[in-house]
Amino acid sequence: MSGEQYKREQEEIKVPKLKSPYNIDLNSIGGSGEFPCPSCGTKISPDDKTEDTYKIIETGVKGDELNYITLQCNKCGGMIKVGGFLSHSLDKPEQEQVI
Ligand SMILES: [Zn+2]
Repeated sequence: MSGEQYKREQEEIKVPKLKSPYNIDLNSIGGSGEFPCPSCGTKISPDDKTEDTYKIIETGVKGDELNYITLQCNKCGGMIKVGGFLSHSLDKPEQEQVI
């Protein structure tokens, strides 16, 4: 047991998840497409063009269709990746395997 290893584990816990946005699948929301921010609960509607509650960071296009958009919540600054615009061939978020 080295103190160094313990320190490293602590750092991993503290790292903010800015680089891995929350993943929202529109197919799992249904209805209007509104969803609460996973971090602060602010209602976010993809149809909202005012950018009062969020701003679009990135749009991903597959062929001619919208594949996903990455939003940033204006309230908490959380990044949210919204996918599922295409009803098929969904990109599932990668899952880390715990050994
Ligand atoms: Zn938020």
